[in-house]
Amino acid sequence: MDDETIEVETMTIACDGGGGPLGHPNVFLHLDDQTHDIACPYCSKRFQLKEGATIAAGH
Ligand SMILES: [Zn+2]
Repeated sequence: MDDETIEVETMTIACDGGGGPLGHPNVFLHLDDQTHDIACPYCSKRFQLKEGATIAAGH
């Protein structure tokens, strides 16, 4: 199965693997400040900031 990239609108996201065989405990990930993406270390899902999304400071 190919890696899927999920578009997000915040720099901090939570991933639980989406359940199923790739599911894992809920973890919070912070997108890279420069590339605006991150790969989950548990399930390898890729998250990328949606184009045009406003980067909110703090929580
Ligand atoms: Zn994950």
